[in-house]
Amino acid sequence: MENIAPQGNLMILIVGPSGSGKGTLMHEITRQDPRIKFFITATTRPPRDGEYDGVHYWFLTPERFTARKNNNEFLETDDHYNHSYGTLRSVVEGHMAEGDDVISDLNWAGVAQVQTKMPDKILKILILPPSLEELKDRFKTRAQTSNETDAKQLERQALIADDLQHLNDSTYIFKNEDMAGSTKKDYDAIVINDDLATAVEDIQRIINERRTKDAATA
Ligand code: ADP
Repeated sequence: MENIAPQGNLMILIVGPSGSGKGTLMHEITRQDPRIKFFITATTRPPRDGEYDGVHYWFLTPERFTARKNNNEFLETDDHYNHSYGTLRSVVEGHMAEGDDVISDLNWAGVAQVQTKMPDKILKILILPPSLEELKDRFKTRAQTSNETDAKQLERQALIADDLQHLNDSTYIFKNEDMAGSTKKDYDAIVINDDLATAVEDIQRIINERRTKDAATA
């Protein structure tokens, strides 16, 4: 009966450089385990064509976002590309009240904020590509949705290259903006997303180990 999990209350946070496969992996994980819900974050960025409120993001006006932030309604917030993004505590707790676990991708700055608010509930998984070459290939095959300039992209690639090169130095502080400020030991587990099915299995095993451990100490 070792796979029987306790009532869901785990917040699975996926961190990793853009293009490492976070979205693809989370899609598979939630498809295969309906007790893990993808939680939707809030943003002040206007919806793009085909994006819907409550499906892709909770779209908030800057005024509303600020009001909710001042009201301490966010587990974490972050500003980038001139817009604010954040995780509403009510969204996460709503899923947990249903007995589900939640999953989403955040950058390290966001994870560090959540950690101060729900330290016992989070499982931090770092996703890395097998190599920089593979990451560049995946970028090419994926439709680019960001407005990044080529120079900015090259800058990001250089930082990711540095990070991958120093991966085995446990004191090395990552530089690229998704992981910036964290070291290897800040994560509960690191998964190299080479073969997709293997990476999915690795993540499922990590989640199940944690569920089992939490059940034993509950
Ligand atoms: P992220 O969410 O981290 O930015 P995505 O999930 O969008 O990354 O993946 C980036 C690209 O890499 C996508 O085109 C995706 O289909 C592809 N991809 C993801 N995982 C793998 C894998 N294990 N092998 C090959 N391609 C992959």
